[in-house]
Amino acid sequence: MIMICPGCSCLCDDIYIKDGKVFNACRRGEEIFAKYNENRAVARVDGKEVDVDTAIEKAIEILKDAKNPAIYGLDTTVVEAQSLAIEVAEKLNGYIDDNSSFCLGELVEAVLKGEIPTTTLDEVRDNAYVLVYWGTNPYHSLSRHMSKYTYYPRGKRRPRGYDEDRYLVVVDVRKSETAKLAKKNAKFIQVESDAELVDSFMKVVDGKAAKYAKEAGAIITEMKKADFNVIFGGLGLKYGLKDLNMFKEMVKKLNEVAKVYFIPAGFHGNMRGFNETLFEKVGYVNKYSFRDGKSGEEFAFTELLKNEKIDAALIVGTDPVYSLPFDVSSKLGKVKTIVIDPRMSFTARIADVVIPSAISGIEAGGTMVRSDGVRVMLEPLEEKEVNDVYILQRIKEGL
Ligand code: SF4
Repeated sequence: MIMICPGCSCLCDDIYIKDGKVFNACRRGEEIFAKYNENRAVARVDGKEVDVDTAIEKAIEILKDAKNPAIYGLDTTVVEAQSLAIEVAEKLNGYIDDNSSFCLGELVEAVLKGEIPTTTLDEVRDNAYVLVYWGTNPYHSLSRHMSKYTYYPRGKRRPRGYDEDRYLVVVDVRKSETAKLAKKNAKFIQVESDAELVDSFMKVVDGKAAKYAKEAGAIITEMKKADFNVIFGGLGLKYGLKDLNMFKEMVKKLNEVAKVYFIPAGFHGNMRGFNETLFEKVGYVNKYSFRDGKSGEEFAFTELLKNEKIDAALIVGTDPVYSLPFDVSSKLGKVKTIVIDPRMSFTARIADVVIPSAISGIEAGGTMVRSDGVRVMLEPLEEKEVNDVYILQRIKEGL
């Protein structure tokens, strides 16, 4: 059976499962398929095991009573569930946010607004010459990105692949594993300041002196050799720049002398799906308040928690107790917490209500959106009735 792996935003569509063995997946993907039955969540209310219906009813009661509820997570579930969660947040007049508010949401938003030219990974495989990985280490975070879509494969107009038809650039603050691959037809730029490199690219286009003029000049010369180049931007880029407008300006400037596209790189399987679904509905990609009718830093889930602005949290498919700093996640103890998750996560262990769900992509089908915006339809290995769509639909109807 050929499957799509929901493990990261590559959404690899060539996972092959035969006699219980998983083929083509990276180590993370293989674990997802091989160990999906481990550490499963059980329905709970106030620490006591209950049936799923009781847990759902209790969740509805909590949300109905809440004055300031927030919904958070959703990056590992399908678009159909994300859509329902947004409708629930609207019905509650509450807040909704996902991990992208401290991940790459801002870059996805720039792409959705058409502020940066973008393309698809399939086009990259067939056409791209210069590949810039900026502030991301796909060797770890997107293990098959380079082998399936970018550097290694032979494409229609790049038949010799990385041997001669690609030019790899890695920009990072340290020599990452990906940077170590930058040998032949390649350049590694170790930056102290991403802003200075951005500035250097812009100045070189204008023929001016700059700190990284030599490096930027060499890359622009390579970019001019082809009509298709791409920059992949990761978390290091986001946190290395105080102002992403600079980066957008740089991409525009590069396009005065060469053809350069941008694709955000490195996030959860369906983060972009959440960003697109919310954007279509309200014009923002994350940290949205239905009460205020706008998005803002103050509506990021971490800020709401830190500033004790919420009294109930519905957390779907993410584990803030594990992933957020302790001084933030510990505030969950002060609010009524409902967790919808296939796993008995750390957050599920402290939640008032736990609703066990199916694993999206393995036990439930639906739509996910790849990092480049391509929509894919996931077919489950086995279908479970109690999945995120079912649970969120019940909650929506019960409010
Ligand atoms: S690269 Fe991502 S989508 Fe592909 S197999 Fe690995 S975890 Fe799954």
